[in-house]
Amino acid sequence: LISSPERPGLHIIHIAAEMAPVAKVGGLGDVVSGLSKSLQKRGHLVEIVLPKYDCMEYDRIRDLRALDVMVESYFAGQLFKNKIWVGTVEGLPVYLIEPHHPENFFWRGQFYGEHDDFKRFSFFSRAALELLLQAGKKPDIIHCHDWQTAFVAPLYWDLYAPKGFNSARICFTCHNFEYQGTAPASELASCGLDVHQLNRPDRMQDNSAHDRVNPVKGGIVFSNIVTTVSPTYAQEVRTAEGGRGLHSTLNSHSKKFIGILNGIDTDAWNPATDIFLKVQYTANDLQGKAENKKAVQRHLQLSSADIKKPLVGCITRLVPQKGVHLIRHAIYRTLELGGQFILLGSSPVPHIQREFEGIANHFQNHDHIRLILKYDESLSHSIYAASDMFIIPSIFEPCGLTQMIAMRYGSIPIARKTGGLNDSVFDIDDDTIPLEFRNGFTFLTPDEQGVNNALERAFNLYKNNPDIWKQLVQKDMNIDFSWDSSAAHYEELYSKSVARARAAIRT
Ligand code: ADP
Repeated sequence: LISSPERPGLHIIHIAAEMAPVAKVGGLGDVVSGLSKSLQKRGHLVEIVLPKYDCMEYDRIRDLRALDVMVESYFAGQLFKNKIWVGTVEGLPVYLIEPHHPENFFWRGQFYGEHDDFKRFSFFSRAALELLLQAGKKPDIIHCHDWQTAFVAPLYWDLYAPKGFNSARICFTCHNFEYQGTAPASELASCGLDVHQLNRPDRMQDNSAHDRVNPVKGGIVFSNIVTTVSPTYAQEVRTAEGGRGLHSTLNSHSKKFIGILNGIDTDAWNPATDIFLKVQYTANDLQGKAENKKAVQRHLQLSSADIKKPLVGCITRLVPQKGVHLIRHAIYRTLELGGQFILLGSSPVPHIQREFEGIANHFQNHDHIRLILKYDESLSHSIYAASDMFIIPSIFEPCGLTQMIAMRYGSIPIARKTGGLNDSVFDIDDDTIPLEFRNGFTFLTPDEQGVNNALERAFNLYKNNPDIWKQLVQKDMNIDFSWDSSAAHYEELYSKSVARARAAIRT
């Protein structure tokens, strides 16, 4: 194992359950690689620790090799060996942990959704810290993400800092407070944490079930920096309605809690170079966008007879958070308004998947509606490029990346004003917003009328003012949604926290 070289920037290690494009379920995966790449460009040493899942995209990992040394880590009263793999993903050094545990924690054909997720990820969090300790790493920042790796924060302070592995400050980012990973308190003991010490109201005890522990709460309480993924969402989760039971915890730790809007990976999402597209294009050459529209219409057997027919896209996980009933409504309303609709989405919720399969079958050979109910990275790129409008009617949305990707591909967002959508989509008719920031159509009330109003205004502009529409498309494509400014913000938080810690040691 190689220890950290001396260098001027910070040494940042992400411990995460996802990283695009090798292990991605949603936005978390995009954030881990996008933020890391941007921090690396700014001169920091960034490394990432992930589980070695069987279902990773192994062809996107370069120079993958196993290290000779095994790392032993504790779980449920025993030591288990972990095989450590190293490789490069998107130019970033990654460590993959393969536990030699009889329950084959990461050999399940999927990333999450297993009955023993709490066990799988508490094991992984402990093994990741053990790897860093045994490798002699001296990171300045350990950044953990969501409940799956929130265990890192209490583990670090309770078990690792006392062993002298104490160079780091801990940053915890919660990408969605809906998922907190609570479990019966006794389950916490397996990874070596002290249940008696931690199942307390001011530590990891769940705020509504006192016999349960809450990893996200542990992440908040035990980290030096706590972030979420947009300023509006950071405010929403501090209220009783938005905090999913954690608002009081967030309010008691408000000094270290902040919302930073995610960026998007502008190399991966670039219509000028995107290899998934039929034709690459830029804001100055929108003919290419029109060709992508035709190509996708042909590919999905939609009518391409009328090029003036607006195409509405929607790419999403089909879960209640995303406003599935409003997505369904938007499909029918688009048809009534004379548009086309393409939905790319899949659902982990069986009754939602079944419902949308019903709609998909109903429109199977329809000229203007197509539902593709699966995860398909390549098709997602084509749909962003082909669509004129992009609908995101979320009930809540921590940050949301699809509105930003859509704009980069010249697809105008129609979004509900919530969370990160409220920080990135500004209504073209809203006089309170400076003209130069207005970039889409928004609605506040999450109901059918709200959707209708925004959709109809978009259709009117598209049909009646093609020149203004084109200017809007060009303006949206030129907005800077890169990670640059958000990564600078993280860098500042990291640096201040590291400086505070060093100042405390000196005094
Ligand atoms: P969330 O993290 O809640 O799923 P985000 O908007 O933050 O939502 O991120 C969604 C990401 O996942 C985007 O990159 C989007 O393109 C991608 N995505 C969602 N559903 C699909 C799908 N069915 N096929 C391909 N990509 C998808």
